[in-house]
Amino acid sequence: MADPAHQDLLPDALQRLADNPRVTVRRSGPPRKEGKCIACWIQRAQRALDNPALDLAIALGNELDLPVVAFFAAISNFPGANLRHYRFLNQGLPDLEEDLAERNVSFIVRRPPHNKLEAFLAEVGAAMLIGDENPCREPERWRRIIAQRLHIPYWTVDADVVVPSELFPKHFYMLHHMRPKLLAELPKYLVHTPAIKARKEWRRPRGLESFPVKDDITHGWRSLDRSIAPVDTFTGGTHAALHRLQHFVTHFLADYPKQRNHPEADGTSRMSPWLHFGHISPLTIALAAEKAHREGKAPRAAVDSLLNELIGWRELAVNFVKHVPDYDSIECAPEWAQKTLREHARDRRDPSYTLAQMEKGRTHDDLWNAAQLQMIHHGWMHNYLRMYWAKKILEWSPGPAQAWEYAVILNDKYELDGRDPNGYAGIAWAIGGVHDRPWFERPVFGTVRYMSGASTGKKFDSKTYIRQMLSSTANEPGSEDASTPSLF
Ligand SMILES: Cc1cc2nc3c(=O)[nH]c(=O)nc-3n(C[C@H](O)[C@H](O)[C@H](O)COP(=O)(O)OP(=O)(O)OC[C@H]3O[C@@H](n4cnc5c(N)ncnc54)[C@H](O)[C@@H]3O)c2cc1C
Repeated sequence: MADPAHQDLLPDALQRLADNPRVTVRRSGPPRKEGKCIACWIQRAQRALDNPALDLAIALGNELDLPVVAFFAAISNFPGANLRHYRFLNQGLPDLEEDLAERNVSFIVRRPPHNKLEAFLAEVGAAMLIGDENPCREPERWRRIIAQRLHIPYWTVDADVVVPSELFPKHFYMLHHMRPKLLAELPKYLVHTPAIKARKEWRRPRGLESFPVKDDITHGWRSLDRSIAPVDTFTGGTHAALHRLQHFVTHFLADYPKQRNHPEADGTSRMSPWLHFGHISPLTIALAAEKAHREGKAPRAAVDSLLNELIGWRELAVNFVKHVPDYDSIECAPEWAQKTLREHARDRRDPSYTLAQMEKGRTHDDLWNAAQLQMIHHGWMHNYLRMYWAKKILEWSPGPAQAWEYAVILNDKYELDGRDPNGYAGIAWAIGGVHDRPWFERPVFGTVRYMSGASTGKKFDSKTYIRQMLSSTANEPGSEDASTPSLF
């Protein structure tokens, strides 16, 4: 959205680009007159395909007759990121460079201590800065700080949702409140966007530094947590994401409504790690599903079921994190849930486990342990078990606030898709009744929805799942002799 106080400073064509609910003008004003390029700061949306931030940078460049340079600053202390996350991110950089080149956009990667955005903007003589959005606390704070420090216009683009989140200015308490509004916007936003090319070639200034994308960006980072090994179940990057997407829509989408609750089957898209790193856009996935339907490969109901998760639940999670400041602690729970959890905070926990026992998957519950092993060794857990997993953490922890904290710690540490609005919303749903309603009163949970091991284990072939996890996680994650489970 344009800052009205500065609208008169922009030429009409630029104003039209700014008048888009996906765009936030964080620093207004006209492009720097003597500017030599448009800089596109890639943070969350690490892709060239279906990336509205890149599309905007290219459109501006073409309008102003300037080339576009994309910039990625690797930082060694991203909150909660460990070697597993960085390896996945690193695997995506060569695809990004290749796909940007297709659009006539150059790519500069920098590592500390040479990764300062302002120094880069000065070196390339940027006329404007275009970035992406991330509703999580720290990344949003960084964007605000940068906006205050810059001397050139800085616009960000809400690139990782189908419907711009700005259209929903307050938190929706339930998906069924948000869904009709999302559906009303879909015809406008669920459409193919052409991959326009930058008209003007960028001449790289002599000696301008860029880190080779295939090299290890973490090399020499002494404070990086390397204890969480990379996994070989997922390969980062847009190309691997598209490959998996194609496989999913061709073979599994038709049965998605039935199979999505079967952790022992490979029935879901597994797009979440790539979505988290912005290697793929939700739009690309949604359009691939629509295409599969048009080609007769999947019924309408299957596509709708996928879109309900991909756009409904996922964009509700973005809405939640954007508007609820304490999204990762018990303070964000609705009043009824806080009250009931407080009333049951002193109920006897039997059994009760420490964080260390749970982390190692050493509980009495084989199904829970298997799910924990899936997360530790494969960097991903099936949705059905994520719900069960978090609810058992509530049941076995000393109190609800600790349970919440433990769930966030484990989820963010081991899941490739962790540190994501979806994770915070998922934990808030499971432990704090967020986006849910009160159920029947029972110990520990109060009226927060309960899931029992006995009934959960009967809804799918839990014995097969446990066997799969035990056989596939016998070795250290990432080790060469780690046997690949049939599931991956
Ligand atoms: C306790 C708990 C923790 C979770 N932690 C995370 C997390 O850290 N990161 C994460 O991306 N998701 C998380 N989820 C949501 C969901 O479990 C995963 O997104 C999903 O399992 C990913 O698998 P998939 O890509 O095969 O999903 P699919 O079933 O193929 O769905 C397609 C996409 O829709 C979105 N989606 C699916 N289910 C949900 C959901 N319940 N809520 C929001 N979006 C959804 C995801 O982006 C997913 O990739 C969590 C859920 C719970 C209950």
